[in-house]
Amino acid sequence: MQTLDWNQFDTVLLDMDGTLLDLHFDHHFWMHAVPEAYAYKNHISIRSAKAKIHREIESHAGTLNWYCLDFWSAKLELNIAELKRGFKEEIRVHPEVLDFLAALRRHGKRVVMVTNAHRDSLALKLEMTEIGRYFHTLISAHDLGMPKEDIRIWSEIQRVTPYDPKRTLLIDDNLKALETAQRYGIALPLCATFVSPKLGRIDPQGFAHFESFSEIMPH
Ligand SMILES: [Mg+2]
Repeated sequence: MQTLDWNQFDTVLLDMDGTLLDLHFDHHFWMHAVPEAYAYKNHISIRSAKAKIHREIESHAGTLNWYCLDFWSAKLELNIAELKRGFKEEIRVHPEVLDFLAALRRHGKRVVMVTNAHRDSLALKLEMTEIGRYFHTLISAHDLGMPKEDIRIWSEIQRVTPYDPKRTLLIDDNLKALETAQRYGIALPLCATFVSPKLGRIDPQGFAHFESFSEIMPH
């Protein structure tokens, strides 16, 4: 992508999963680990557990429930947060993310995480990585009662940490989130296309985008 003019921005809103962290962890967890635990508990085949759970997951796509560990714990009668904790060693930060976050702070930017991830999932990822200390504020969509797919979230965030949308950059791999942010008036919704070395690139569908944080590093 073209070099970013960092003078245009004083706030950076950052997504977590896929954008800063390797999405393979969550992908593997929901596609394999959860169905396997469900199959074991209910004495059914892994194949039928996968079919049932993948169907359920799809039916809640784009909603807060989709991201809600409590919702899935109740629905599947499994302790999802505890199960997730068992795989925590697999959590990985993308290359150059820590350098990028440090550079944002060095340049005096306000650094705010806005994640659809549940608080338990966020806590686990902060425990296992070094990303947390670079943020001024960390916001879980669950605290606001709506996901980033809901345009109202961008004004709700103003109550937690006021920001000027015209001087704000959002980095996210979620096209629906980029779209609501754009409609709200966030100056630059920027798509992170590299979500995992093990998964395909995101098609940015017309949004400005980058693959490696080295492309947008403030100097
Ligand atoms: Mg994401």
